[in-house]
Amino acid sequence: MICPICNNADSIKFIDNYKLHIEYDKEFFKNLKIYSCSSCDFSFCHPMPDRKLIDNFYSNIYRSSGRPHQIFDFSLNELLYSGRNKNYIQYLTTFLNINKLETVFDFGSGTGDLGFLLSKLNKKINLYCEESDNFSKKILTSRGYTNLIDSKEKISTDLIISLHTLEHLSDITVFEKLKDIAKPESYIFLEVPNCEFDGKFIDRPYDSPHLLFFTKKSFERIAQKYGFEVIDIALNGMSVNDLFFDMRESKKRFYKWRPNQFSLKLYLKELIRFFTPNFIMKVYKSYNAKASNLNDYRLNVNDAWCVRAIFKVHK
Ligand SMILES: [Zn+2]
Repeated sequence: MICPICNNADSIKFIDNYKLHIEYDKEFFKNLKIYSCSSCDFSFCHPMPDRKLIDNFYSNIYRSSGRPHQIFDFSLNELLYSGRNKNYIQYLTTFLNINKLETVFDFGSGTGDLGFLLSKLNKKINLYCEESDNFSKKILTSRGYTNLIDSKEKISTDLIISLHTLEHLSDITVFEKLKDIAKPESYIFLEVPNCEFDGKFIDRPYDSPHLLFFTKKSFERIAQKYGFEVIDIALNGMSVNDLFFDMRESKKRFYKWRPNQFSLKLYLKELIRFFTPNFIMKVYKSYNAKASNLNDYRLNVNDAWCVRAIFKVHK
């Protein structure tokens, strides 16, 4: 076994057995173990699950009914204008000029919130994405995205976005592809969970469905490997303790999920949120510390659950 970043075998050590969020997902993520490269501070599963099995998981299971990542049509707008998305825009505009962008590509876009918001700020932007989830595909089309999974168009882009996607992949070869479609002097904006297994992260309640585990240092090593210039790397988001609290709650709620099981409770909760005026939600959230922490803008703090980076691609 070698490290996918530095190709070294001596620096690899066993970390822990893989932990499941949802018992049913054992079908897809069985008998995995987590290893880490001490030189790159990068961790990964071994053996990796079969690619076809994982593709099937993301096309049909990941966002299906009653699961944590199900998205309801009526909450799309609330999600679009969430504190998290506003924060992405603030962060991006600190480092690059949105008015100069002509093409934005979102790899593993989900519903493509950030690109869609950027295209509202600059109408010249052409949106491209790569996303295989069937629910997200419909939304992406309505938001003006061309999905390269279906179109096979060859593009060259000014900005690549990939938010909370890389950790779902089984290798890092995607960086070759991203470098390929990046225009000279273009930017890559990445965000993933910050997984410091030699620190607090070792006590995480679950791993699935993540397969790769990044840190600040591993982002620096990746930039080195692929010849990207680091514009910024920052830890951000709520504290790891608050994250673990949310993860434990989620595991309690979803661990026994089974397919085709409609959750009336979850649906009603979303419906109530939709019909509740914003000012009441704000009061509710101020009483519910954990819910508000998710939207907190904490940047460059040591104890944060995410790591983000902006790379510049020179060719
Ligand atoms: Zn390494």
